[in-house]
Amino acid sequence: MITVPGPLAQPLRYGVYTGRELELQSPDAVPTAARMGLEPPRYCGQCGRRMVVQVVPDGWTARCSRHGSVDSAELEQR
Ligand SMILES: [Zn+2]
Repeated sequence: MITVPGPLAQPLRYGVYTGRELELQSPDAVPTAARMGLEPPRYCGQCGRRMVVQVVPDGWTARCSRHGSVDSAELEQR
């Protein structure tokens, strides 16, 4: 059983493109889920750490050292 939320699990605490706390970020800077499928997130939504992002032929994978990895295929399943 997974006890640590994934980097993009809701609710997000940090902007995945800015790495800033969402409370400090203007609402129109918050990315939509649709946009996430096209553009890899750069920062973990849970802790704001910069993630290791790999672009692969069918999408991308992004990994936080604390919260694990997420990939674009996973988002499409939701
Ligand atoms: Zn994290």
